[in-house]
Amino acid sequence: MKRTLAAYEGIVGAAVIHQLRHLGEKLAGCRVIHVNSTRAGGGVAEILDWMVPLMRDLGIDASWEVLEGNSRFFSVTKSIHNGLQGNPLHLGPADWQVYQETNAANAERLRDQLSEADIVVIHDPQPAALLGLCPQRKGKWIWRAHIDVSHPYRPVWKMLRAAVEQYDASIFHMPQFAQALPHPQYLVPPSIDPLSEKNCDLPAAELASVRAEFGLDSQRPLLVQISRFDRFKDPVGVIQAYRMVRKVLPVQLVLAGGGAADDPEGQAVLDEVLEAANADPDIHVLCLPSDAHRTINALQRLADIVIQKSTREGFGLTVTEGLWKGKPVIGGDVGGIRLQVINHQTGFLVNTPEGAAHRVRFLLHHRQRLGEMGDTGRKFVLEHYLLTRHLREYLTLFLALRL
Ligand code: UDP
Repeated sequence: MKRTLAAYEGIVGAAVIHQLRHLGEKLAGCRVIHVNSTRAGGGVAEILDWMVPLMRDLGIDASWEVLEGNSRFFSVTKSIHNGLQGNPLHLGPADWQVYQETNAANAERLRDQLSEADIVVIHDPQPAALLGLCPQRKGKWIWRAHIDVSHPYRPVWKMLRAAVEQYDASIFHMPQFAQALPHPQYLVPPSIDPLSEKNCDLPAAELASVRAEFGLDSQRPLLVQISRFDRFKDPVGVIQAYRMVRKVLPVQLVLAGGGAADDPEGQAVLDEVLEAANADPDIHVLCLPSDAHRTINALQRLADIVIQKSTREGFGLTVTEGLWKGKPVIGGDVGGIRLQVINHQTGFLVNTPEGAAHRVRFLLHHRQRLGEMGDTGRKFVLEHYLLTRHLREYLTLFLALRL
């Protein structure tokens, strides 16, 4: 059962809910369609899962469509994703043809409803070509980028830009990602749902049972990184940092991830991680199903320190999730992690495994500081990165576009 906005009043206060309802009244009946490329796995699905029901609760006629494609398509779009995050890789005409054809097949299926919608929000590169395939569109179309496009590989961005520049607006997480585009660009960072299975409070017995299930030792410090098995998340770098800490402290490490339907590289990266872990009994590499939200919640709560050592990161919801649970986060000094890890306040920004190991050792040796940073992080999320702020910014953007 999906929650309504009223459920959040106890966390964010009545005034915030009142303000959202007020904005929602002005958009009552407005037909909004979100399109992305996976129903489960990864941050975008995580967000749409609460955003669509809450928009509906506000009286907006919101829905969520998922692009359908085969493995060849998702391998091409993963390359586009990697190219946009800066990897210099070649995509040939045949690749772009697969991209275009899959978008065309989906446009056949979705054209009527997309053309009639008042607002269409297209998430990430996979469905970006749909706009050009719906020439009779009635409403405003927004391209919503969730990835770190601060330093895109130019040939890949140039191809995608041809599709994106036709939009009425685009949304990026932060100013560093904005591009030269002929339309308004809005800056809206993501957020988490504090009442979801992923983030709600959990009873101590449930934490103990997850600890036992994965054979974690309650007497020794635990480091946790939750991430899809993706090279940009640098899981092997986390293992290197763990080994450096291990020389002086008896830490344990959990690297937990799962697949996303639109991410075909997961298995290869998982193999690299297992090789790097080299059967160390204190490195727990967990492959979790995409609905293992409570398990992930518990692992983040069991952690002493949450790690997100990405080398590129659109935002990093896992950082927000860790901070919300009162954990300091040691994160890569990149992309959206910088919006959340305020160096020396809510955690530490690092560039290397050595840097990560240094900060882990510091925090484990300064428990009071660890606790203070955790408290600061939770307050920071309450103020900036809960879904009510995110929803408000979408609603005001929709209103601005419809004027
Ligand atoms: N996640 C999950 N299972 C996994 C790995 C990740 O449910 O095995 C969740 C994670 O808790 C977070 C989201 O997927 O909510 C990942 O979002 P993030 O922005 O950190 O990274 P993305 O995967 O979008 O690059």
